[in-house]
Amino acid sequence: PVRWGLIGATVIAREWMIDAIREAGGEIVSVMSTSTERGKAYAEEFGIPLAVTNLSNLFASGVDAVYVSTTNERHRAEVVAAAEAGIHVLCEKPLATSLSDARDMVLACRKAGVVMGTNHHLRNSATHIASRDIIRSGRIGRPLSARVTHAGYLPEHLQTWRLKDPTAGAGAILDLTVHDADLLRFILEDEPETISTLTQNSGMAAEGIEDAALSLIRFRSGLLAHLFDGFTTRYARTGVEVHGTDGSLFASDCMPQRPSGTLTLRTADGDEEIVLDHKNYYVRGVRAFHDAMAGKGAPPSTGEDGLISLAVALAALESAKTGQTSAISTGL
Ligand code: NDP
Repeated sequence: PVRWGLIGATVIAREWMIDAIREAGGEIVSVMSTSTERGKAYAEEFGIPLAVTNLSNLFASGVDAVYVSTTNERHRAEVVAAAEAGIHVLCEKPLATSLSDARDMVLACRKAGVVMGTNHHLRNSATHIASRDIIRSGRIGRPLSARVTHAGYLPEHLQTWRLKDPTAGAGAILDLTVHDADLLRFILEDEPETISTLTQNSGMAAEGIEDAALSLIRFRSGLLAHLFDGFTTRYARTGVEVHGTDGSLFASDCMPQRPSGTLTLRTADGDEEIVLDHKNYYVRGVRAFHDAMAGKGAPPSTGEDGLISLAVALAALESAKTGQTSAISTGL
């Protein structure tokens, strides 16, 4: 089995990724936490043989791949070090808090010839895969507009750095808009070119940090998308709609982390409910990552994909600050 090391004793690993790695046939051999105590307790709780407090000890534990899920300002140093040690990397989104950091990460992995994946799990959703396939087949004609509602409620146990620590990459844009950007690129097979964003602070996030944002994106084809992302609405229904010249797709309840969603295709023939085979997104992602390590294909979302989704999020933040439309560019 692939031997994994966890960088970060985190909630996302606890809730999804430890199980996903194991279900995909991987073995977790070590975990790194900057706190000896928390790392030990975490390793014990999840039956991980070794807890370490630095990267060199983690790499020395004989890992083939690392899963990086620390706060975002730490990703660059951890990913570059893993690449330089010849270790494959699956990194959380946003890849980093600046484009130059994310570029360094992508270039280090390229240079070392290791696989780099970005954990944009929504690409592994049956709902979104079906949308992409239907659009690709031409059934909605030429896509003209899209709408993403990615508004939920940030659970209490996650109301920490995301709401108050700008260094770690706080705010709804780096947390949620980044996912929408990757998802729309995946579904539409089109590239975002400009973004215009307004932000909101409803009092949940600290002053100066957005807890919701509304963005407009123009894609290369001319398609216009609008996205609403937020931490603050408990009862909103998430959704992704794509409207084309010959049909429309309506995906509903399709943005949670658990497999979910319904999909309706509306054309001149009426409404068709698309049958979906829901499977765990994270397991599917790790399986594909293992395949990529074995030379079969690429991870669902690559390092380059993560760089682009970050470029969209950073352009959104810039637009919100300047009041102008921002161009989206990775500089790579
Ligand atoms: P956590 O808040 O659980 O952990 C982030 C870091 O904070 C850890 O690496 C840890 O440092 C430190 N930390 C954790 N618990 C404590 C504590 N009790 N006291 C002090 N420090 C602590 O992060 P999340 O799991 O919420 O998010 C981690 C990453 O995953 C982010 O990049 C996020 O954007 C991404 N994410 C992705 C999701 C997805 O579906 N793709 C979903 C959720 C998050 P150390 O490890 O050194 O101990």
